[in-house]
This record gives sequence, C-alpha cells and structure tokens, in this order.
Amino acid sequence: MECGSLPAGVRARAMSATWARAWLRASAAAVAEQRAWLTDLDAAIGDGDHGINLDRGLRRVLEALDGAETLVLPTGDLLEWAGRVIMGSVGGASGALYGRALQRAGGTLRAEAAAAAEPRDPPAPDGTSAPAGVQRAGPGRGPGDVVGRGPGDDPDGPSSSGPRNGAGDRVRVLVLAFDAAVEAIGALGRASPGDKTMLDVLVPASLALRRSMSEGDDVPAALSQALGAAALGLEATRPLVARRGRASYLGERSAGHLDPGAASSLLLVRALVSTCPDLPRDRRLPGD
Ligand code: ADP
Ligand code: MG
Repeated sequence: MECGSLPAGVRARAMSATWARAWLRASAAAVAEQRAWLTDLDAAIGDGDHGINLDRGLRRVLEALDGAETLVLPTGDLLEWAGRVIMGSVGGASGALYGRALQRAGGTLRAEAAAAAEPRDPPAPDGTSAPAGVQRAGPGRGPGDVVGRGPGDDPDGPSSSGPRNGAGDRVRVLVLAFDAAVEAIGALGRASPGDKTMLDVLVPASLALRRSMSEGDDVPAALSQALGAAALGLEATRPLVARRGRASYLGERSAGHLDPGAASSLLLVRALVSTCPDLPRDRRLPGD
C-alpha cells in the first residue's frame, strides 16, 4: 500500500522517524503492561528484575521522546539516542544488550539513509550509468529534504512502500538494521541461538525477515512473518537449559521456563509490527 508519493528517483526511508517514535511508545506501553509477567519470568530463573529494569529504561525514553532535541532527530540518530538512554538506565544484562542493539540498528539506518540521499545517476542513452558526478553538481538532498518540510513532518520525510519507491529496498534495509541489532547482542553477550536468551526470539525473527525479502514480500508481510517466528521462538525457550546470563547458574533447573529476555523481545517485535505505518488501520493490532 502506498502512503505518499515521492518525486521520481527519491527513495523512501525504510523506517521513518514517525514509525520509530511510535514503536518506542508502543514498546514502552507493552513493557509497562507486562512488567509483572516479565519480572515473574525472571524471578523463576534469574533475579526478578527484568520487567522493572526495562520498564524504567523505556519510561526514560518516553520522558525525553518529545523533547525539542529528540523531535528533530532522523530515525538512525533517534534509535542511537534511545540506545544510550536504555544503556544508561536499565541496568542488568538486558540494558547493555538492548542499548547496544538499538545503537547498532540506528547506525545502520543512518548509513543507509545517507546512501539513499545520494542522487542516483541517470542512465546514459547507451544504457550505462552516467559518469559519477554528473548529477552531484546540483544542490544536495539531505535526509530531511525529500519533500518540503512543514511543522510536524517526519524529520526523515515520508515512508512509502509503493513499488516505485522500492518496497523491496525498504525490506532490505530493515533486514540490515535488524541483523545489526542481533549481531550486536550475540557479540556482546557471546550468545548463540539455543542458549535460552533474547536471541532465541530475535534470530528466528531476523531469519524470517530475510526469507521474506528473498520472496519479494512487502514490509507488512515481512514483519508479520517475523512476528510469527518470534512467537514460536519464545515458546521454544521453555525446554532449553540456559547457557548464558544469570539463568545459566541454575543449570538443568532453568529448563521448563520461558526466558524473560526472549519474552521482552517478543513484545518489542510485536510493537514494531503493530506500529508499521504500511498496515491499514483495520489490520493494526488491538490497542494501537
Ligand atoms: P540480569 O540478568 O542482569 O538481571 P535482566 O534480568 O534485565 O538482566 O535480563 C535478563 C535477560 O537478558 C535474559 O533473560 C536473557 O534473555 C538476556 N541475557 C542475559 N545474558 C545474556 C547474554 N550473555 N547474551 C544474550 N542475552 C542475555
Ligand atoms: Mg534479572
């Protein structure tokens, strides 16, 4: 579905700042609502602070989300900022892991936005690309200059998934950002799928996104595949014996419980899907 039309040759943002802000808001609401559940899960195999930790961090994000300094941030910078807030306020393993993940995803989106803002060279009459620099002599287009900006407009410009604006390209960039987040968690936590951590939700979600990309799905379809895989991933943590984090101290006794970080990851993925601007309103999840 098309959310707005862009001048020919201008590529849509994979994730608009408006979507990123809505995602952070929906994530904070979901974690606040499920705080006791997350904390109970952590009490069973950890130290019982996961819901409290994450709720505190996301509240801090919410407090500053509409401040003058954050309102003007494009998506990549916004996610990097949120990562710093989470890292500084959540405490526990999950603060460092989610904080780093957001920073890496934000850095990826910033780099992709910069690349997309580069004007593409027009094809030469013989079908080859024009020599580098032919178009670059004109006024540069920054991430915020996609269309004339007015008060309240997204600092990143509109997001659109119409074929003309590269639905496949948007999925590709979402895959890159998601993968960057997942890799950051794996590297920092030295964890792999099967260790009974948040990666048991995030890795299947990222693989599902990749699969969708190769099948040519649009953004909502790709995200709904990711959400399905994430939900299965959470349930699959139940029989696992934890090999990372506090739960690993319990050894075999950690089996038989859902992993709390995997549970919060599912809430975050669900919030991403439910706030996707490409979803028609009647298909948004309840509560959005
Ligand atoms: P803490 O264990 O320090 O109290 P939290 O309770 O906030 O931190 O978060 C616990 C969750 O963090 C776990 O359920 C798990 O999903 C995740 N986690 C912990 N250690 C690791 C790790 N090394 N790698 C990946 N995820 C981890
Ligand atoms: Mg804990």
